[in-house]
Amino acid sequence: MRDATEGNTERIYNAAVCPFCACLCDDVVIRVRNNEIEELRNVCRFGVAKFRSHQGRLKRPTVDGKPANYEDAIARAVDILKGASKPLIYGLSNSSYEAQQVALRIAKYKRGVIDVSESICHNLLYAALKAHYPFYYALLDEIRDKATVIVYWGSNPVVSHPRHLARYSVYPAGRYAMKGVTDRTIIAIDVIEPGFKKQWFVQVKPGEDAMIANTLTQLLKGEPAGECNQRITELRDIADKLRSAMYGVIFIGLGVLAGANADENIKAILTLVDTLNKTGRRYVIFPMKGHYNVMGAVLLLMRETGYPFGVDFSSDKRFEPGKTTVMGVLKEVDAALIVGADPVASLPAAKVRDLLDIPLIVLDPFESPTMSIASVALPVAITGVESEGIAYRMDGLPLKLDKIINSEYPSDKALLEQIYEGLQQ
Ligand code: SF4
Repeated sequence: MRDATEGNTERIYNAAVCPFCACLCDDVVIRVRNNEIEELRNVCRFGVAKFRSHQGRLKRPTVDGKPANYEDAIARAVDILKGASKPLIYGLSNSSYEAQQVALRIAKYKRGVIDVSESICHNLLYAALKAHYPFYYALLDEIRDKATVIVYWGSNPVVSHPRHLARYSVYPAGRYAMKGVTDRTIIAIDVIEPGFKKQWFVQVKPGEDAMIANTLTQLLKGEPAGECNQRITELRDIADKLRSAMYGVIFIGLGVLAGANADENIKAILTLVDTLNKTGRRYVIFPMKGHYNVMGAVLLLMRETGYPFGVDFSSDKRFEPGKTTVMGVLKEVDAALIVGADPVASLPAAKVRDLLDIPLIVLDPFESPTMSIASVALPVAITGVESEGIAYRMDGLPLKLDKIINSEYPSDKALLEQIYEGLQQ
């Protein structure tokens, strides 16, 4: 939201939204003078780097690695997609909701596959939910208001979402934790001790999380808990603490969702939360989302298709995690439109080799390894800094991102619209 102090040369934004991670902190204060960001407040180091993104920018479009203008690059992108019988549209976690909508239109029009980078890390969680494991969820504002027991499990917000602790979980005052951190019990379960204040830290070896969760469930049910003999006293204390709270939250991160033994870990923690709820407590499980608008892409696909990611419009079997997602579909697609993602850096080497066999169209503000193998590379404005748009916070709350400064680059939405129009001609 833009506030008044606006003359010819200076503007102040008193409640801007940070477009780096899915916390989408909406209390950022920005002072702009002569189209330069001069002052930033209420923003962590990642947010500062995003707002001041001068380095690593892709400066101009390229076609087959050679400089081109936007018109020629878009024409080539349209040709590639017109010639493809089943393209993949992938990424979208760093795009505005409006851009995601256009990308979905392209996927439907071309009867291709649309997948979100979420599918790599959160695949197994959705598979467990599809298998009808219970899921207890809440908005972050409710968690801040009511939770007195906070568990970070396989998640270290200090290194991934630095202001999460201050805005939603540990430090803010809440209705049942009026003194903030001193009225809350903080528990961390991870392979490495995270650097935030906590009463308990349970160090696990990779893949041991399921054993810890199962032991806590057994203790809560009053059953014999055999597997964790060495830590049974500590886990008994933690089970008592979990039981003593009327409201608690377990934030789960990639250490659980995508680490060793992830399938068993997720099911065991879902079962633990279910057990707590069946004892009359209210506990929620909250997956920590990474990129700033991964939730927007997931919600869009859920609304329009009923599936969270990996939707294949070319067949009746539209959603099968592992088959219709990027990890399973690369040998079937014959082109890829990649928006705000770097699959060359994030996929295993065998999948990257598959990408080398097909023409890639890449839209991104920044240079990346994927850009270096793209047939068409299109630089875009940074949403939330150089263009406006809607993004959804990690709990699904929609927020408006402002255009803070002008830039020479078009938005990803504008470029995707041009590609979509070209396809229809
Ligand atoms: S926690 Fe995330 S959204 Fe908040 S300021 Fe840091 S990077 Fe930005």
